[in-house]
Amino acid sequence: MDLLELFRESEALLEGHFLLSSGKHSQKYVQCAKLMQYPDKARKVVAEVVEKVKDLDIDVIVGPAMGGIRAAYELGSQLNIKTIFTERVDNIMTLRRGFEIKEGDKILIMEDVVTTGKSSMETAKVLEDLGGNVIGIGCLVDRKVSQIDLPIYSAVELFFETYDKENCPECAKGTEAIKPGSRKM
Ligand SMILES: [Zn+2]
Repeated sequence: MDLLELFRESEALLEGHFLLSSGKHSQKYVQCAKLMQYPDKARKVVAEVVEKVKDLDIDVIVGPAMGGIRAAYELGSQLNIKTIFTERVDNIMTLRRGFEIKEGDKILIMEDVVTTGKSSMETAKVLEDLGGNVIGIGCLVDRKVSQIDLPIYSAVELFFETYDKENCPECAKGTEAIKPGSRKM
């Protein structure tokens, strides 16, 4: 099955002219929350990650808020493994709500999209400072641009080129870049 088709069907994968939060322009944009609206599609995409991690010894799955939460709980549900989440407080990734990591807990972090990997690594550090042992990163989409030292278990890999305004092919056509999230998308 072409999992990317599920992204397209749910308008989670858009093509056009986008201004990314990094300031770069691109011709594609992925918004996993659009896919995760649909239980059947969410289940199918996450099942691909399940196939890759089902033989790993995992004590707890951790989803960094916001994007990681839905993906993490779907994965935890399919694997029947305890799932918790981290969240930013004053921009610092934190474990709250009485969630605990035990010394030596084997942890799989689950994200929606791994781009730079910055948020995943920040989450890993928080969990390791608490005594956890992060064994890998699961994700719905690996954008294939991160340099993470941990194994990545993705449902789909989706590399797309990003451009500075000066050499953006869409800017050259004279269309205006849309900032995803600035309208209902
Ligand atoms: Zn552009």
